[in-house]
Amino acid sequence: MVRKKYDPGFTTRGGIITERDPEFCIVRLRMPAGMATPAQLKGIGEIAERHGVEAVHLTTRQTVELPHVDPARLEGLLAELGANGTPLGAEREEVVNVTACLGTRHCKFANIDSVGLAKEIDRRFFGKELPVKVRIAISACPNGCESERLNEIGITGVRKPVRDPGLCTGCGTCTHYCREKAIIVEDGVIVMDGGKCMECGFCIMPCPFGILRGEEPEYRITVGGHRGRHPKIGRHLITVKTPEDVIRVVDKIIYWIYRQASSGSLLPEQLDDLEYDKFREAIHTLVEG
Ligand code: SF4
Ligand code: SF4
Ligand code: SF4
Repeated sequence: MVRKKYDPGFTTRGGIITERDPEFCIVRLRMPAGMATPAQLKGIGEIAERHGVEAVHLTTRQTVELPHVDPARLEGLLAELGANGTPLGAEREEVVNVTACLGTRHCKFANIDSVGLAKEIDRRFFGKELPVKVRIAISACPNGCESERLNEIGITGVRKPVRDPGLCTGCGTCTHYCREKAIIVEDGVIVMDGGKCMECGFCIMPCPFGILRGEEPEYRITVGGHRGRHPKIGRHLITVKTPEDVIRVVDKIIYWIYRQASSGSLLPEQLDDLEYDKFREAIHTLVEG
C-alpha cells in the first residue's frame, strides 16, 4: 500500500500526537467532563472503524484517543469527529480537556454541579494557548475523585455544616457519617471541631431532626498542582460562592499565567517566581472587595 507521507504540519495542532512509529499519529478528542451521549460514543466507534483504527484508548483525562491513525486520513477523520460533536482535543501548552466527576447530577455526595461547570469552563477556555500546559479538574466534594488538587487548577465543591441552636438529642447518628471525627457527642449534644472538618457536608442529611443544616455550597480553588514525575498538591487560592465567581477567578488565573509564566518549566515550579502570594492577595481583593 502506498501511504501519503506524514505531514509534519499536523504535529503543530493540539490533540495530534506523533506515535512511537512516526509514520502514524494518535488523535485525542475534546470531551469536557468526560461526558458523551450514547450516540456520540457510537459515532466515535463507527468513525474509528471507518478509518482503520483497531482499538480506542480511554485516557486519564476523561477523553478518548484514537491510536495508529494514518496521517493521510486525518482531514476526513477530523471532519467526521467534529460533526459527531467530539472534535479534536488538546495536549500542548494550552488549556486541555477539563475533567469532572458526576456531581449533583448523579452522585449522592455531591455539593456542586461539576459537569455543568466543566462544560462552561471548557466553552470559555479550552485550547487557549499558554506558556505552560494547564489542566483543570473539578470534584464535587472533598472525596476528590478527580484528584483535582493534582492539577494546575483544581476546584472542589464544599459545604459547611452549621448546628441549629435547637435541641440536639445526642443520638449520635451524624457522628457515624463523619470520617474525620470532627463531631462528637458531649453531655447529650454534639460538639464540632472546625479544625478537623473538611466541609464535605456528609453529616448534614442524616440528622433525623434537622438540627444540622448546611450553608450554601462553595467552590474551593487551588493552583499549581501537578501529577507526573514530580507530583505536587495545589495551593489553596480562594473559596468562592458561585459558579460565576469560579469563572471570574479561572479567567484571572489564566490571564496571569498568559502574561507572566515562562515556557520550559511547569507551572508549579514557577509559582514563587510569579509572585503567587501577591496574585493571591489581588484575587481576594477582586472577589471579596
Ligand atoms: S468527588 Fe464526591 S461528588 Fe464527586 S464523584 Fe466522588 S464522591 Fe461523588
Ligand atoms: S462536614 Fe464532613 S468533615 Fe465536617 S463534620 Fe460533617 S461529616 Fe465531618
Ligand atoms: S444526628 Fe442530629 S440529633 Fe442526632 S446527634 Fe447529630 S445533630 Fe444531634
